[in-house]
Amino acid sequence: MKKLVVGNLKMNLDLDQIASYLEIINEEVHSPHVVICPTSIYIPYFLSHDYRVGIQNTFLADEGAYTGEISPKQADSMGIAYTILGHSERRMYLKETDDFINKKIIAALKNYMRVIVCVGETLEERKMLKTDRVIKREITNALRGLTKEQLDNVVIAYEPIWAIGTNQTPTNKDIEDMINYIKLLVESYFNYPNIKVLYGGSVNEKNITELNKIKNLDGYLVGGASTNPEKFLKIIEVALS
Ligand code: PEP
Repeated sequence: MKKLVVGNLKMNLDLDQIASYLEIINEEVHSPHVVICPTSIYIPYFLSHDYRVGIQNTFLADEGAYTGEISPKQADSMGIAYTILGHSERRMYLKETDDFINKKIIAALKNYMRVIVCVGETLEERKMLKTDRVIKREITNALRGLTKEQLDNVVIAYEPIWAIGTNQTPTNKDIEDMINYIKLLVESYFNYPNIKVLYGGSVNEKNITELNKIKNLDGYLVGGASTNPEKFLKIIEVALS
């Protein structure tokens, strides 16, 4: 089974940089297994080049007086396939709660989007041996009330917060154990044995070959390295080989 590689460009690159990004990445990445999530204002450029595009957030309502927000209904109407919800940066900077994230997940799924749900522990939680507990809380709250059909359109991204943008990654064994744990958790709590799990956190062109040896992993969520088209292409090449 081919893996899924998702690039999260976050709030990076200006218009000139997007133009050169598209030139370099053009042609190489028209794969159903690659999703690029640019800053929202640039999404139409990527759509017009026929990429599979994701959005970095969607709101819980379909429409209304919510200045600055984008609804899943609007995103779906643009042909945007995926939305990233529960990212640790939004949990941290925008104070998004588990309950709010759950509502946004349900709204996105009702609008036929696929959802990448991010979960992960802080360094402090890891040191206190609370990782499993944190992941269990985030996942059971995020997926509350979802049907099996809805879970078909959910992918979990395990992203230890201490590994994001730090050039540090857990060992392959730790990642593999966590992927197994998440799959078992979703099976036992939601009676859903087939959940897909990505790894995210400092994936780059240098460590991808080693990370790609992990069994049970369904793909990668790539932040920083995806903003460099050459590095992102290398990651895609290895991950989809
Ligand atoms: C992310 O923020 O989703 C991420 C994985 O970032 P990075 O690859 O830069 O660690």
